[in-house]
Amino acid sequence: MDTKVINVQADFPILNQQVNDERLVYLDNAATAQKPLVVTESLDKFYHTDNANVHRGVHTLAERATAAYEAARSKVKNFINANEAAEVIFTKGTTDGLNMLASTYGEQNIHEGDEIVISIMEHHSNLIPWQQLAIRKHATLKYIGLTAEGELDLVDAAAKITNRTKIVSIAHASNVMGTINPIKELANLAHEVGAIIIVDGAQAIPHIAVDVQKLDVDFYAFSGHKMMGPTGIGVLYGKHELLDQMNPYQFGGEMIDFVYQQKSTWTQLPWKFEAGTQNIAGAIGLGTAVDYLTDIGMESVAQHEQQIVDYLLPKLVADDAIEVYGPKNPQKHSGVIAFNLKGIHPHDLATALDMEGVAVRAGHHCAQPLMEYLGVVATARASFYLYNTKEDVDSFLNALTETKEFFNHGTSKAK
Ligand code: PMP
Repeated sequence: MDTKVINVQADFPILNQQVNDERLVYLDNAATAQKPLVVTESLDKFYHTDNANVHRGVHTLAERATAAYEAARSKVKNFINANEAAEVIFTKGTTDGLNMLASTYGEQNIHEGDEIVISIMEHHSNLIPWQQLAIRKHATLKYIGLTAEGELDLVDAAAKITNRTKIVSIAHASNVMGTINPIKELANLAHEVGAIIIVDGAQAIPHIAVDVQKLDVDFYAFSGHKMMGPTGIGVLYGKHELLDQMNPYQFGGEMIDFVYQQKSTWTQLPWKFEAGTQNIAGAIGLGTAVDYLTDIGMESVAQHEQQIVDYLLPKLVADDAIEVYGPKNPQKHSGVIAFNLKGIHPHDLATALDMEGVAVRAGHHCAQPLMEYLGVVATARASFYLYNTKEDVDSFLNALTETKEFFNHGTSKAK
């Protein structure tokens, strides 16, 4: 495996601890990623030396805080290859960005009889805002299904996206099945019928290089905390001309040009969408996370995770006691693997793995319609990131073996 990437472990002191007397193996990265020291240090530095509100004062600290906040925006702009920094809106996270779009673009552009197309693998944050918008507007919400291999069915996509479609909103990568969706093809299908494409990038941007211009997406939402940044900060990228046409999401300080007694006008992008005091430290920390990932290189990150999946997935697929959901071909898989140990509830499985120091997630992963589609109530999920090693994978496999023995014969050292 790529040693350059593996050598980052010292940057993550949180990983260097014992859980239930075992070495911690953190495999819940799809929920949130750990933060390297440089990110937490940049938060400290901001609060210890530069803390002030942005865009308000002319004093030195306010200027420093504003410069750092806007520098973070430029870093994000370069990271996703947006055309201009004004297309990068800071949000609370993916959920916030998608809700903003439903409440602004959706509210303005969806009318009775229009269609919104999503997929059956969407996280609730890319489902409920559209479902509720469709209810409010008497529009129709359609779902693209999956192929037998657990990939998005492009034949179904072409059938569902029609000249009634106004919005297509799709995850770049599934938070359950590890499927990576062909966003460029979907963007073409959407644009051919005059619809826009919105991408939920929460599970893609931490792991693969994303170029919003090459993908030709209209909006791309993501969260800082899954890419090693702080919680409570995220980004909504949007094409300038679309953002320009949209009404503000919230009203208040920072987003106005002039306020009169009976009317107001709005300031320019991106600040039109950043009402009130923002998560300034969070944005700066996200900028540092972007620097960190850029230094390592997203190609190296993707390659490292691919090596983990190449090593692990075939072993899980070959095990008769384990059911794997999503593509079985490692080449078509991100570092998110949903699985069940047959006959064992995933919560019991996750608890048993925790006894061995292995942190995985169990539940419906905020994707209940997908669970229903797959015919399961819940699954366990192991999700990897650049600091995970082959040793982590082996510990996970050993813990799975111990767990199987415990449930079959009650003989594991599971405590
Ligand atoms: N979409 C996907 C695919 C996700 O995995 C998540 C987080 N689990 C979200 C959206 C929501 O992200 P957040 O909670 O950071 O807003």
